[in-house]
Amino acid sequence: MTIDDAPRDALRGGPRELLRWVATGAAVSRADLSRLSGLSPSTVSQRVEALISQGLLEEAGAGRSRGGRRPRQLAVPTGGAVVGAIDLGAHHARVGALDLSGRVVQARTLPVRIEDGPEAVLGALLAEVASLVDRDPAAGARAVAGDSAPGALRGIGIGIPGPVQHSTGRIVSPSRMPGWNGFDVAAFCAGRVDVPVVVDNDANLMALGAHRTAHSELDHAVYIKAGTGIGSGVISSGRLHRGAQGSAGDISHCRVVADPAPPCTCGNAGCLEAVASGAALVTALREQGVPVSDLTGVIRLIDDGDRQATALARQAGRAVGEILAVVVNFFNPQVVAIGGRLADCEPLLASMRATLYERCLPLAAQTLLIERVAAGQDVGITGAAHLVIDHVVAAA
Ligand SMILES: [Zn+2]
Repeated sequence: MTIDDAPRDALRGGPRELLRWVATGAAVSRADLSRLSGLSPSTVSQRVEALISQGLLEEAGAGRSRGGRRPRQLAVPTGGAVVGAIDLGAHHARVGALDLSGRVVQARTLPVRIEDGPEAVLGALLAEVASLVDRDPAAGARAVAGDSAPGALRGIGIGIPGPVQHSTGRIVSPSRMPGWNGFDVAAFCAGRVDVPVVVDNDANLMALGAHRTAHSELDHAVYIKAGTGIGSGVISSGRLHRGAQGSAGDISHCRVVADPAPPCTCGNAGCLEAVASGAALVTALREQGVPVSDLTGVIRLIDDGDRQATALARQAGRAVGEILAVVVNFFNPQVVAIGGRLADCEPLLASMRATLYERCLPLAAQTLLIERVAAGQDVGITGAAHLVIDHVVAAA
């Protein structure tokens, strides 16, 4: 069993959990960690020393004494651009350099032509990560393979807007990504950088980023990413749930009630993605004779109160709500949060919420939080950074 597959309780006091308690401020000393984990002080000390030697924890100043010698305070090193992150979208990519606490040090958004293919797109984005890391004086000089000193680049996390086989990092049958099917992202990147590269679906990374940022106290959560495409990421028992292959949470080709059922890129008809994604809204408006070129144009029309665009947004919200109601009844999360560019679209959100309350079991709905993902445009790269940090800690 790998550490990724272990149930949460079995990891009580594991290195990742110790690190997270310090990162979130729940613990500032070895004594705190011992109390929270139930582990003996000597075991905690051993694990803390290992984390310090890896540069993943540091001791800063002295804590408040409860009699006797003042305890040394533990902290996660902050400030260095030591984790690279790429959140790839259909038309743009958010690229960042983050520190070990998951805080963004440098980030920028680049235009992307996904149809240029994986080598060209990923090659350019990896170069951008290197230049962001180089711009951080604390990290750039030491961004050398195998150098585990504080300040060295530890790894790169990449989010892909399509299905990713978790065990291999390979993309499998993505929509709207010509030339990417079967591409081994992890192997391609491993040939170009000397640090670990972890790859996941973009909705999973949004889920991880949003959960660590806003909901880390909640064990069960569902995050919907509604942009050009539509997908979701699931947090179960406090951990990202990927399922057997990595496709858990992929709701894009679930069938919804739609008449007529629009054809989908997968070859079926009436899929959620063909009804409720940003790409679907662009297509539907064009078919109604509205000259709109992209999702930005659709959102502008909805903000302006355009009747056709608003009606389509409501219909999309109902479709998302129908699928989500099944997910909520089946999985019983504490929170459902929607992110992505359509999350600010009020008519969509309102009809999604109404459909959810209409269709969910009372027991599942009575304490369910339904909200927007609050972490903004950096939520994906934040999730990517946490994926890398978890990988580095597990490897250490
Ligand atoms: Zn489909």
